[in-house]
Amino acid sequence: MKALVCTKPGEFNYEIHQKPISKTGHAIIQIKRIGICGTDLHAFEGTQPYFDYPRILGHELSGILVDTGGATDFEVGEVVTFIPYFNCGNCIACKSQKPNCCSSLKVSGVHIDGGFSEYLSVPTYSLVKSGGLSVDDLCLVEPLSIGAHAIRRAEVKQGEFVLVVGAGPIGLGIAEFARIAGAQVIMMDINEGRLQFCKETLKLAFVINPKTVDPTEEIHKITDGNMPTVVIDATGNLAAINKSFQYMAHGAKYILVGLQKGEISVSHPEFHKREGTLMSSRNATREDFEYVISCIASGLVNPANYITHRVLFDDVKEQFPSWLKPETGVIKAVVEVSEE
Ligand SMILES: [Zn+2]
Ligand SMILES: [Zn+2]
Repeated sequence: MKALVCTKPGEFNYEIHQKPISKTGHAIIQIKRIGICGTDLHAFEGTQPYFDYPRILGHELSGILVDTGGATDFEVGEVVTFIPYFNCGNCIACKSQKPNCCSSLKVSGVHIDGGFSEYLSVPTYSLVKSGGLSVDDLCLVEPLSIGAHAIRRAEVKQGEFVLVVGAGPIGLGIAEFARIAGAQVIMMDINEGRLQFCKETLKLAFVINPKTVDPTEEIHKITDGNMPTVVIDATGNLAAINKSFQYMAHGAKYILVGLQKGEISVSHPEFHKREGTLMSSRNATREDFEYVISCIASGLVNPANYITHRVLFDDVKEQFPSWLKPETGVIKAVVEVSEE
């Protein structure tokens, strides 16, 4: 089978690999769609921490099940996606129903080879039913689930103000699930195009560009002086993360979804007087995947809004570098591995 290997930063090569072999406990998916993620772009750029090369990237997948691996509730020929975070099942996180932050988590396409190939073998426990979704919609379930998980962590309530900082694909998903939870969403980003997308396509009432207005003043105005009770970072940018502490209302929660390598610094008195809650949100669980699928099936979220670029598998090597450039205007690029 054909596989696209990231041999070193900045270099892809198509290689012929052996098709996965059938074994109990491992299902084989014939890949149909692959969504390109920030993680894939950073891995290609060489800026992804703890990344080994060569590596087959790709973890936002959908396809056809060609071997169930003994999974009794799945059938050969059905459309599936999978949860690309493989967990140990034995650590304290796994035993507390938090496999998304397993102490020895292996993410497909990051720590181990992923799905930039025609077939992929995955543990049967990771399979997720399509819920009637198309392969296009289904390959966006994983990134959307990360947003859904963050909103579940934040326990967002009807009517409260949620500030989302960073309008990348993850931030956009966070904003959508905050809206579905009944929140009043404020999106902040320095990219005018993305803010326009938030207003026009996602119908968000409040968008802020901190380059053109004073963000604190603006948020103060929008929230009637109270500030948001939930602040979520989806930038993974240290300066932005440090800055956003000051947008928290008294009693607010601050959830970090974006990840960076440095140390966070915060004024202790400012954080303390607010009785602030700081939490991180990592990956997503089966509950989030199934919730996202139900939201798409009922029309609350439309993944097609996110797909700005489409490319055939054979053209990924050539097209991929262009998606690193902001002027391409890419939100989500989707790879079509073979005809349906
Ligand atoms: Zn991703
Ligand atoms: Zn574990």
